[in-house]
Amino acid sequence: MSEVKILNSGEKFAHVSVGSLKGFEGKQFVKDAAGETSCEISFGSLPSGQSVPFFHSHKENEENYIILSGAGKFQVNGDVFDVAEGSVIRVATNCDRNLKCTSQEPMVYICIQAKEGSLGGYTMTDAEITERENLL
Ligand code: ZN
Repeated sequence: MSEVKILNSGEKFAHVSVGSLKGFEGKQFVKDAAGETSCEISFGSLPSGQSVPFFHSHKENEENYIILSGAGKFQVNGDVFDVAEGSVIRVATNCDRNLKCTSQEPMVYICIQAKEGSLGGYTMTDAEITERENLL
């Protein structure tokens, strides 16, 4: 099982890591380590031929699955479809979901849970360009 490490943090940021995704195993939630207040992010990995051992549903949170490597099948209620590296799957509240790895390589993915309907401004409607000395 991989673990999340707090690498550094400041008044306005937290930097945590689950380490290399090659060889990542199991499921790791990062909200507590990172102090996230708007969403829950988890990393997951499924070995070839495996699915999550249960279906589940969320009452208030939408989930967004981002497939980072591997390929497989995704089921939402009675709908089944193929997913692969690069896929983003949004799943609404109050429905059952599961995924299965069908590739030889493990399927590694990120899941971001956030309150359904909570996104207000985003990108250019929320961001503003600021003046800051570039220290990079
Ligand atoms: Zn979930």
